[in-house]
Amino acid sequence: MSLILSAPARFRTGSQWTPTLYRGLATHFTRASASAALAHPSPSASQPVPDVASEGNLPMISMDGRKVTVGWDSRTWSRFHSIWLRDHCRCPECFHAITKQRMIDTFKIPPDITPIKINATTSGLQVSWPSSEPHVSLYPWSWLQTNSYDPPLRPRETQLEKIMWSSQIQTSPPTITYQEAMAEDDRGLYKWLNHVDHFGMCFISGVPPTPEATEELSQRIAFIRETQYGKFWDFTSDLARGDTAYTTLALGAHTDNTYFTDPCGLQLFHLLSHTHGSGGSTLLVDGFHVAATLKKLHPDAYSILSQTPVPAHAAGEPSALYQPYPTSGYPVLSHDPVTRELTQVRWNNDDRSVMNNLDPHQVEEWYNAIRTWQKLLTSADLEYWVQLSAGTAVIIDNHRVLHGRSAFTGKRRMCGAYIGADEYRSKLAVLREKFASTTSDSEIADRSVWNPAL
Ligand SMILES: [Zn+2]
Repeated sequence: MSLILSAPARFRTGSQWTPTLYRGLATHFTRASASAALAHPSPSASQPVPDVASEGNLPMISMDGRKVTVGWDSRTWSRFHSIWLRDHCRCPECFHAITKQRMIDTFKIPPDITPIKINATTSGLQVSWPSSEPHVSLYPWSWLQTNSYDPPLRPRETQLEKIMWSSQIQTSPPTITYQEAMAEDDRGLYKWLNHVDHFGMCFISGVPPTPEATEELSQRIAFIRETQYGKFWDFTSDLARGDTAYTTLALGAHTDNTYFTDPCGLQLFHLLSHTHGSGGSTLLVDGFHVAATLKKLHPDAYSILSQTPVPAHAAGEPSALYQPYPTSGYPVLSHDPVTRELTQVRWNNDDRSVMNNLDPHQVEEWYNAIRTWQKLLTSADLEYWVQLSAGTAVIIDNHRVLHGRSAFTGKRRMCGAYIGADEYRSKLAVLREKFASTTSDSEIADRSVWNPAL
């Protein structure tokens, strides 16, 4: 049967600096990606999926061999394998209502299981299974629609809300106040993390210019991720840590921790003072925007940067010798293996190790690709320069936004912290449950087994 796939286009609409809307950066350069593309055709944005809940009619259902088919309307259907349905039963016997862990023994399900009976009810698809004890599963319609894989019906939420920016963001950069961030009801924190999610960065104004207040601010999001630079760091340009960050030199746009298997997710920093000198502007560049531009203008270079692993190291301290594992490293541009959207930018040319894994035929091509990347990365219209001052902290998504600074004279005191990417995403997901869903507080306190994340 051939299907016409459809999905709603739910992009955010404009802000004052006319952001470029971003919807994942699909790539088509590897065999694996090509087959993934066939297995998971991208839905077209031409027609919306019918909203089952708001329509009086129940979906049409049928059973055919080892699959159950649900017809959402006359031209949109989803097929679910019987074994898949049985494995995803969320009754209290099959799925722990509190721990949200699978309890059914997947390996006891007969491979050729077929329902005895299926029923369309107002609360969902009811399936009766053959077993010694009668077992009936109920799958809410909206859950089936969200998790439809044959075909996939909805783009993932994460692809929808990235807003790419350029130097023009200087006219109105995403900012919240310290008061908002610290307010107990978490609404300001939610606003803050949404800014980070959409833009990959956010300023926080009105922060008391002390390390204590800055540390407290960092801990609003999650516990601090300790590294070889310490937990909460507070430093001056005295080369105390064997890294150029601790000098007065200019630093080109880079991401931190390319030498880690899992680079830190967020970085918050706050300039506490700058005395007896000048310079030291902060540079921010939206790596996702640079990547999108590269892909459009130089798809071959994009492909090379997406495939070639880059080894890296941190070796300036005699007591430490960091390399990512596996030591071949990771490509500059990483992608979701299923959706093929760009997920991470890793770039620090200073920390790059010996490139001894290059295919000899690709050496010059690879140097050309990083030259093209670097040229875009340093183009004036993509660079956002800002002179930080005491009282305004900035937080960046280190998997997306590159940072740097101009050289300076005098003495600067900078403090800040890293926060793990998983901790930040977990906090944002919890705040979304709290503020963005239509479910009531009591339902959230008792997280549903149908939560889309489970
Ligand atoms: Zn069950």
